[in-house]
Formats: sequence, structure tokens, C-alpha cells
Amino acid sequence: MKSDIIVIGGGASGMAAAICAARQGASVLILERMPKVGKKLLATGNGKCNFTNRYMNVKCYHSRRPERVKAVLDTFGQAAAEAFFSELGILAKEKGGYVYPNSMQAASVLDALRFELERLRVTTRTNVEVQGVRAKGKGFQIDAGEELFHCRRLILACGGRASQKLGSNGSGYRFASSLGHSIVPVVPALTGLKAGERVYKALAGIRTEAVLRLMIDGKTVDAHRGEIQFADYGISGIPVFQVSGQAAYGLLEGHQVQCMMDFFPDWSSETLIRFLKERMNRFQGRPGEVFETGLLNRKLMHECMKLVKVRENGFPGVEKLAEIMKHFPATIVESRGYDFAQVCAGGVDLKEISPADCESLLHPGLYIVGELLDADGICGGYNLQWAWSTGYLAGTAAGKECHASYRTN
Ligand SMILES: Cc1cc2nc3c(=O)[nH]c(=O)nc-3n(C[C@H](O)[C@H](O)[C@H](O)COP(=O)(O)OP(=O)(O)OC[C@H]3O[C@@H](n4cnc5c(N)ncnc54)[C@H](O)[C@@H]3O)c2cc1C
Repeated sequence: MKSDIIVIGGGASGMAAAICAARQGASVLILERMPKVGKKLLATGNGKCNFTNRYMNVKCYHSRRPERVKAVLDTFGQAAAEAFFSELGILAKEKGGYVYPNSMQAASVLDALRFELERLRVTTRTNVEVQGVRAKGKGFQIDAGEELFHCRRLILACGGRASQKLGSNGSGYRFASSLGHSIVPVVPALTGLKAGERVYKALAGIRTEAVLRLMIDGKTVDAHRGEIQFADYGISGIPVFQVSGQAAYGLLEGHQVQCMMDFFPDWSSETLIRFLKERMNRFQGRPGEVFETGLLNRKLMHECMKLVKVRENGFPGVEKLAEIMKHFPATIVESRGYDFAQVCAGGVDLKEISPADCESLLHPGLYIVGELLDADGICGGYNLQWAWSTGYLAGTAAGKECHASYRTN
């Protein structure tokens, strides 16, 4: 089977790329290994699809080549993504910068993309698992087991290897490297972190506000404020998600990785110590639980007291207690892994990709988009924005190229 353009992967970036290529008049075929396109899209934003963010800054992304991420976002950023979806009929709704469809249903975003694919007569083949790709003549040959496909331009939109059950299984990295691309080491990101301390089993289920600092070999490298969720394996919640990729790289490189949680981020240590001293005097002679009540989640406070007592072998001084309440440690032993990760950090090195159109600088006619590239965003719609931006640039350019080569042939 022969098409102008084949897109491997019917996820967010692949559907955007296919639409943009078909709008240029190219014949486009999407190959998708799952029974339906856009399975992951349906799971985004807890089913509500946080598809971009009004605060767009390159600092919200991790990549070895931030200047290239910026160049892509400067060409097709948040406003362009909202306009793209508005044209497809999606009314946007903003909540603290996070942008959702007004329906608050990810299915609306997927439906709008599907309707446009249908209108443009893009062919979608599902349950087709690509096994390998190779450059052949002036185009590419795609091996899908029992079938071979040929195209003039190829768009790799296979995603990373996060949440495999939703489709992406890491095969895109193999295809890109078989075509000569370098892969920046890939780790899970936007996921929970497993901690070595036994206290986490006792804290499972508790949620509390804190500032979380990520420390690599004793040095603070990042900090985020928000709700921490304790789990029997360790810690989760948005602040943990935001640092999880960097933590995974730290572990991969053999560093000591620790998270410190400050449960009283608005108070200095001195203020907290003063407060605890006054409280201790006020409740002197009363049962210990009177002192403990009403400061933090009861169980968390109790565990803080226990930790200090164990260390001090007796009733703690308030200084020690304040220290643990402002520096509650989690020694990170492992990331929660790909199955629970929302994205992958690392991927195809952007130094080998043109930021103007996501075309490979090694193979003309090959385009690489989405999570497969070495760029991952923090929580808040940044990863889908990256998928739309790269999909738009690659699809438009590949479509135009096909059109131009018809005219010259
Ligand atoms: C639970 C969850 C919630 C999320 N929430 C948000 C959110 O609210 N906002 C946000 O910005 N980001 C969110 N993300 C991240 C976001 O979904 C991804 O960054 C984005 O979907 C990546 O798009 P992509 O097109 O690169 O890859 P994907 O969407 O993963 O699509 C890749 C597609 O390629 C197909 N494929 C892979 N290999 C092959 C092959 N060999 N042959 C054929 N097909 C293949 C896969 O089946 C898949 O359909 C979330 C992720 C998860 C898991």
C-alpha cells in the first residue's frame, strides 16, 4: 500500500500531524497498533483533557536542548493550539492557566480530531503494529508483519513508553535509532517515587500541603509547592510528579536522591520553634495527644513525634520536632516506573531535528514528533501542547513538501 505520508501512531501528535498534512492536499495514512486511535488522550487530565496552558514558558519543559523547544513553541504555541481546536469546534475553558474543553470531557477533543480526520479523508488503520522502518529509494518502507507499506514522507508519532496499556510501548525509540538517530536516555516522569523509610506504610492515604525539595547528593535542584499524597510505597501528588523525571535521572546516574518536605512552608524554623515552645508550655501536664492535636494531619503529626522520639530516645526537644516538620525526608530508591508514569523524559535528541518543521536532519522526508522527542513538560497541559506543536509543524511541512514535489515531478 502506498501513500504520500504515513504517520506511525494515532495519538495526540499523530492525529494533529495527519490533519495538518491532509490540509495541504497530501494523501495520509495513520497506522495505529491499538483497536482505536487516541486511547491515551481519553485518559488525560483525569478524563477532562488539560490540553494546553495559558502560561507558556520553556522553563516548563525539560530537555537537553531548551533553545529548540523554545523555537518550536514560538512558532506554534498555546494561542495557536487554542485556535486550532476552536476551529474544530472546541470551546476552551481556563482554570488557573490550565486549559480544558468546556465540556470537561477528553472525548470531545478526540471526537473533534476524529471528525476532522474523516472530513479530510485520512485513512486510519488500527490494530496494525509496525515492526520496523527503513529508508528505501526516495521514501520509506514500513514493515507491519504481514503487510508492507510505502510512503514518500514518514512521521514517527509513536509516543514514549509511559502507560503502555494506553498504546505507546517504546518501539518509536527503536525505529528512530534504526534510522541513525541518537536517543537521550529515557526515564519515567510525572509519576510517584518509592521511598526507603518504613514510615510511609503508616502514612499511606494521607494528603497534606507542603513544599517539596528535590535534593541530589545533598544539593537542592528543584522545589514545588502543592498537595503531597503519601502511599505505602512512598510519595505521590503534583509536586512529586514535577520532580520525578529529575529524580529518575539522578538514580540512573548513581547519585543519592532525596526529597525533603516542609509542612510549614510559610513559617521560618525560628517561628515554628517559638510556636511549638509556647504550645508546650500551654499544654504542660496534659496528655501528649493534646499537644499533637490540630497542627497537621493527626497520623502525620504522630509519626513526626515518633520519629523524633526514636532518634532522641526520649521526649523531643521542640527544635528537633520543628526540624522534622520542616525537613521530612524521603530517601528515593526507585521511580514508580513506566506503568504509572504520564510521560517519558529523554528521547530523540533535538540536535538532530529541525525546530522549524521537526524534520530529521539525518534523513530528509522523516519527521519525528511528540513524546518521542527529548522534551517533557511539567503537569498542566504542557505535554499535549508539545504534541500539538510538533504535530502541526511536521504535518504542515510534510504535506507542503509532497505538494511541491508533485508540481516539480
Ligand atoms: C494518565 C495520563 C494523563 C495525562 N494527562 C495529561 C494532561 O492532562 N495534559 C497533558 O498535557 N498531558 C497529559 N498526559 C501526557 C500526554 O498524554 C502525552 O504527552 C501525549 O499523549 C503524547 O502524545 P504522542 O502523540 O507523542 O504519544 P501518544 O499519545 O502516546 O500516542 C502514540 C500512539 O502511537 C501508537 N504506537 C506506538 N507504537 C506503535 C507501533 N509500533 N505501531 C503502531 N502504533 C504505535 C500508540 O498506540 C499510541 O496510540 C497524560 C498522560 C497519561 C498517561
